[in-house]
Amino acid sequence: MEKNNKAVVVFSGGQDSTTCLFWAMKKFDEVEVVTFDYNQRHKEEIEVAREIAGEMDVRHHVLDMSLLNQLAPNALTRNDIEVKDGEDGELPSTFVPGRNLLFLSFATILARQIGAKHVVTGVCETDFSGYPDCRDIFIKSLNVTLNLSMEDDFVVHTPLMWLDKAQTWEMADQLDAFNYVREKTLTCYNGIRGDGCGECPACQLRRNGLETYVAQKEVNQ
Ligand SMILES: [Zn+2]
Repeated sequence: MEKNNKAVVVFSGGQDSTTCLFWAMKKFDEVEVVTFDYNQRHKEEIEVAREIAGEMDVRHHVLDMSLLNQLAPNALTRNDIEVKDGEDGELPSTFVPGRNLLFLSFATILARQIGAKHVVTGVCETDFSGYPDCRDIFIKSLNVTLNLSMEDDFVVHTPLMWLDKAQTWEMADQLDAFNYVREKTLTCYNGIRGDGCGECPACQLRRNGLETYVAQKEVNQ
């Protein structure tokens, strides 16, 4: 991969953003990460992000986005709201309206501050759980808007956009990060690292992808 310039990775310490961090470290000369603190159920998420950033030796920015919870309390920020998938076209209870709009906007403003041209996010349309702001068309539209707003030419990268969870594991494996991602990252809504609680929707999605990838790999060997 071509090495060029500097990137900011939107980073939560989960499987997807950690895979994106490994991807970015191959692709760019310099990488920094940004984590948003929006009163996640589990402060653990920010701790995990801090730890991984430390181990990868990248500069870690934590931005306070607690206002998001003020505007739109939801299952990711409030213990009294149950985590469940949306049914019959409803959005899941984990949906935070405008989250990627805000996160990517702030990440890009940060990119400008630190002289980075590239912003990397792990959003993915393939199993996007019905989040409208994970769609490719939204990201492209926002990229144009951000460039117009700051008269600049940032590039928003979405390396996972068209991958399913099994293919995301494959990417981690190709980046020699399979075990690292499996053991160190936090995806579980119940705040348990690695393979997690096994029961919540995030754990189920992660495990299904992992099992599919491992099975495919065995067949191909
Ligand atoms: Zn879980």
